[in-house]
Amino acid sequence: MGRRRRSRKKILLKPRKTIPKIFTCPQCGQQTVKVTVLNMPKSSEDEEPKKLVLVKCGFCGLKSTFQYNEIFQPVDYYHRLVDKYVAGEI
Ligand SMILES: [Zn+2]
Repeated sequence: MGRRRRSRKKILLKPRKTIPKIFTCPQCGQQTVKVTVLNMPKSSEDEEPKKLVLVKCGFCGLKSTFQYNEIFQPVDYYHRLVDKYVAGEI
């Protein structure tokens, strides 16, 4: 039994900004809150495609949707969820 040498070079990935998309749930404390962008179907041809952002905890089911805003990062939606939760809206 000989050891196989792995001579394969590591593939270098292009540096990419990795923004965390998993957050801690304010309700159950699990790190299971995901931020997902939803593409809504257009209701008419000349309308801008609507986008919504779903923030949902995969553990306890706490969730909220927000209007998509391109200047927002996932963490911003997460903070909005936390704000809503703290305010007792969800
Ligand atoms: Zn939760």
